[in-house]
Amino acid sequence: MMNLSVLLEESARKYPSKDAFIFMDKHLSFAQINGAANQIAHGLNAAGIQKGDRVALSCLNLPYFPMVYYGILKAGAIVVPLSVLLKHDEIEYHLQNSGAKAYFCFEGTKELPMAKEGFEGFQKVNECEHFFVITPQMTDPSPIEGTSTLGMLMAGQSPVYNTVQTGADDTAVIIYTSGTTGKPKGAELSHSNLALNAMLSVKILDLHKEDTQLIVLPLFHIFAMTVLMNAGLNVGATSVLLPRFDASQVLGLMQKHQVSIFAGVPTMYWGLLNFESQEFDLKGIAKNLKTCVSGGAALPVSVLENFEAKFNVPIYEGYGMSEGSPVVTFNQREFGKKPGSVGVPIWGVEVKIVDDQGKELPVGEKGELIYRGHNVMKGYYNNPEATAKTLKDGWLYSGDVAIKDEDGFFFIVDRTKEMIIRKGLNVYPREIEEVMMKHDAISMVAVIGVPSEESGEEIKACVVLNKGFELKEETLIAWTKEHIASYKYPRIIQFMDALPMSATGKILKKELS
Ligand code: ATP
Ligand code: MG
Repeated sequence: MMNLSVLLEESARKYPSKDAFIFMDKHLSFAQINGAANQIAHGLNAAGIQKGDRVALSCLNLPYFPMVYYGILKAGAIVVPLSVLLKHDEIEYHLQNSGAKAYFCFEGTKELPMAKEGFEGFQKVNECEHFFVITPQMTDPSPIEGTSTLGMLMAGQSPVYNTVQTGADDTAVIIYTSGTTGKPKGAELSHSNLALNAMLSVKILDLHKEDTQLIVLPLFHIFAMTVLMNAGLNVGATSVLLPRFDASQVLGLMQKHQVSIFAGVPTMYWGLLNFESQEFDLKGIAKNLKTCVSGGAALPVSVLENFEAKFNVPIYEGYGMSEGSPVVTFNQREFGKKPGSVGVPIWGVEVKIVDDQGKELPVGEKGELIYRGHNVMKGYYNNPEATAKTLKDGWLYSGDVAIKDEDGFFFIVDRTKEMIIRKGLNVYPREIEEVMMKHDAISMVAVIGVPSEESGEEIKACVVLNKGFELKEETLIAWTKEHIASYKYPRIIQFMDALPMSATGKILKKELS
């Protein structure tokens, strides 16, 4: 038997008065977070929520997130984290697909569903019996008629609770994939999936109770949830919360709280690298920073190298996905790191590169990355077809093309779905992007395939230029042609002011054409 909330409970017992979370000028201790989670668990039970019920949660990076997350888990229920940017129809899809019985929603969320149709109308469509508005006022009445606030749920409840015992394989969280390539799917992760991944993240980050980490990656996404929140709660580290990425605020908080651990997606490293200001003591910030980690998308080698030089701190890149709790491979201190590589498998996870038939390929050959081990999800909730395509004989088929080198390090080539087939030849956008990122004038680039009568697909690069640079399409095409094989250089260039980005900071290629 085990329940993931043991991660919080242990730290609340060992370091009750130590800061667990800092948000603006508020400091919340481990005991306070644990006590609030206990009150929430009581409140949920009083509302009729029981073991195995799904409870949705959409909240920015605020201390309410861990309180509610652990409150749901303590009650033996299943957390369904939802992005705060979802629109009305998307919220309905997620609530219906997960069969959520209750829904916690921060009042500042992009579209408060109730606002449109009232609580009654909402209930009819979603069979979601309870709606709790997370509002800092915490009091009666709720801003939405017929619903309660988080404060009302907690009022009068005891801060002591007997956590409902769950099996290690019982589902703890249903996390929806980012929807980068299609409709998000709900990966069902167990208590042991998440606990082991959090404990291994502690090792990868070299995280200790003396550390302070900055959490700007959204907590509703698996990366921050496991690698930062759950890992931090596990060892008793302090987490500084920031709801939205802003380079100046990130640097300000790093300086103020002497942050030692930072995790981000590549666009965040790019943002920090390109932010110029005399306001901050970069040397001082660099002195405190001990570990940076990157994941979620490919980190261009040029960004990695320039960032490491500017901040004098190593970035360890890892590879993961919602289905893998998320961490699959990582560059880890003890095994050394290679730029451009996502490192070696974490403890207890096997990784193979296979061909179309599922046969293992030799070192250096491109194929699909598959893995098995303690981090593999139980399946996609309510989606047996997608599960059958992804999970075969215990192996998870990632949909990512990768290579293994002679030292056992993995390199992600690209997503299978993003491969371009031009005149019958396979072209991987990431390879072209890596080359183009080396051009002085280029700030960001996304390469896609567009339909073409002549070639089947044609290679197109969507380019954002650095400030103060101008470039002609023909000049850039000619430059790229000199640096890459002739069947691979982009024939079409479009200059853009910015690239479309998801809530987690991933470039959304499906919105480019
Ligand atoms: P969806 O599955 O809904 O299309 P998604 O795959 O973006 O969305 P996530 O689970 O958040 O949803 O992301 C996992 C994917 O992110 C991986 O399959 C891989 O394509 C990509 N990824 C993660 N880390 C890296 C990395 N270090 N380098 C390259 N790609 C990465
Ligand atoms: Mg995916």
